[in-house]
Amino acid sequence: MITNHSPVSQLLRCAKCGKVIPQWTQVCPQCLHKRTVFRRLIGYMQPYRAELSISLLLAAVLTALELIPPYMTKVLIDDVLTLPGYMPPEVLAQRLELFAWIMAGMLAIYALTALASIVRNYLMEWLGEKVTYDIREEIYRTLHRLSLSFYDKKQTGQILSRVTGDTDRLQVFIAEGSQELVVDALVLIGIGAIMFSMNARLALLALAPMPVVAVGTYFFGVNIRKIYQRVWRRFSQMNALLTDTLPGMRVIKSFTRENYEIARFGLINKYLLRHSVEAATVAVRFYPSMQLLLSLGFVILWGFGGYMILHGDAGLSVGVLVAFVGYMWRFYGPLQRISRLNQQLQRAATSAERVFEIIDTPSDVFSPADAPEMPVIDGRVEFQNVSFSYEPREGAELVLKNINLSVAAGQMAGIVGSSGVGKTTLVNLINRFYDPSEGRVLIDGRDVKGVQLKSLRRQIGVVLQEPYIFHGTIRQNIGYGKAGASEKEIVEAAMAANAHAFIMKFAEAYDTEVGERGVRLSAGEKQRLAIARAILNDPRILILDEATSSVDTETESLIQEALNRLTKGRTTLAIAHRLSTLRNADKIFVLDGGRIAEEGNHEELMARGGIYARLCRLQAELSRVRAL
Ligand code: ADP
Ligand code: MG
Repeated sequence: MITNHSPVSQLLRCAKCGKVIPQWTQVCPQCLHKRTVFRRLIGYMQPYRAELSISLLLAAVLTALELIPPYMTKVLIDDVLTLPGYMPPEVLAQRLELFAWIMAGMLAIYALTALASIVRNYLMEWLGEKVTYDIREEIYRTLHRLSLSFYDKKQTGQILSRVTGDTDRLQVFIAEGSQELVVDALVLIGIGAIMFSMNARLALLALAPMPVVAVGTYFFGVNIRKIYQRVWRRFSQMNALLTDTLPGMRVIKSFTRENYEIARFGLINKYLLRHSVEAATVAVRFYPSMQLLLSLGFVILWGFGGYMILHGDAGLSVGVLVAFVGYMWRFYGPLQRISRLNQQLQRAATSAERVFEIIDTPSDVFSPADAPEMPVIDGRVEFQNVSFSYEPREGAELVLKNINLSVAAGQMAGIVGSSGVGKTTLVNLINRFYDPSEGRVLIDGRDVKGVQLKSLRRQIGVVLQEPYIFHGTIRQNIGYGKAGASEKEIVEAAMAANAHAFIMKFAEAYDTEVGERGVRLSAGEKQRLAIARAILNDPRILILDEATSSVDTETESLIQEALNRLTKGRTTLAIAHRLSTLRNADKIFVLDGGRIAEEGNHEELMARGGIYARLCRLQAELSRVRAL
């Protein structure tokens, strides 16, 4: 979707302050408590205190090492290389010795610096990776904890970018950002102190352009961040477009909408280009300007320093001047990084907040921690005054209204009704895909909300209206229902679902790769795999949501026959499109307007002459017409 000119009503607003939330973050910048977020982020580093302390220690060592070399050059120039007119041999010997020491010292410092950097950088990278690993694990766990209503509202692309993109940003921040600040601040203070102690007047002059550099960098950061946000937004639009259109390739081709799609992509791409160039324009102007300022600083330093030396200013030697130049070089980087700090923190805080937002989302379907396990299910299913709405708010339209029904253990129940009447919704309440807004769903007389969710779902087999086939082989897809299922079990399940025959027609039989979402299978084949998967577990309650709608009548009756065999001793709830399949059902519920309008077996309902009877007659006529 291009939400470029989305109407105001669609804008996301902060629940707390009501301000419009920028689309790229989905987190209200006003209400973002940076401090809380960082405290929490630091909490994630807590388990790695040892590594963190070593790294901080190394940072201090590195800072000290950084400050020594310019001072050494001062000694080198003033005390070794500046030759007096006459030098007695013993003085020369002394100088040579000092010279050797300085050279050795420099080598040692540079080697130590390299070594300490390697260890520290490794530690920080490792820490960053480990913390994001932990966070990714936690998000993914959360994603499985969250109920379906969460997924009803979120776009896959949004969730995806939080699991991968945002955690990645956090990694960079932890590995590079978090301690850089400490080191940089130490370096700045250290250099400032040394320069002022060597020559206060020169220090003032040399550092004069630095506030300009700091302020300039800050504003540059603010400016470029705005542009980068635009770039980022276009990128995510492009992602959304791709995740939306690529799976719809068949539809695009059949409606020959290629040019339309290319144009849609082109528009986003064009904006992306514009903003990227904008960012580049700002950046290419900025860096040379800063370079100029810095060079100016050097000219000032050399100019005034040289002038002072030529005028015999006490306390200023060539060595001190050269040392100043060395310190200036080292001043620039940390200064720029610190000026950009706010922007970095902001980015990290936003990413962290987006990640925490998912982690903190409560699941509206959960079982109390002390809830007992569901014992082996006998199979009695009851609905007591169940009403349901997909919208949690008060007064929202009800999909199901005061449903009361009861299916005895081992019975086969059918649910019929026109499309959109709420059949799928009704069965979704049994294994708690959603919870009723009002009333209770009971299995064997126990409220399903009162037992451990997993122990409940494990015993209920569901064939969804739109079977979802994972990328992988047929064997993997059927076996998904039961970890460690044996070959025999899988083949038996496939046979019961009338899938074995078509599976064997593939050259690789059960090892056939089905492609993404099972694209290499027909709709009927997918349904049969889904049935095999559902019955593999030998569930006590089996829910079939139009599970055979895409197979021909003959196959359907074969499956039905097998299921009848299988459904012995288990409760089956079947939503059926073709009413003929429900002829043997013990009970049929007819939904109309969100309520149960009729209830009874086939004969009873036919005799009643209501909705069911009318639908049956219609279908019978239709099949007669087809048969002609
Ligand atoms: P049926 O299975 O009988 O065809 P459903 O139970 O799927 O009907 O849908 C019943 C009603 O609930 C429909 O009006 C549908 O638009 C709505 N609905 C279904 N799923 C959702 C959902 N996840 N969020 C909001 N509304 C939904
Ligand atoms: Mg349905």
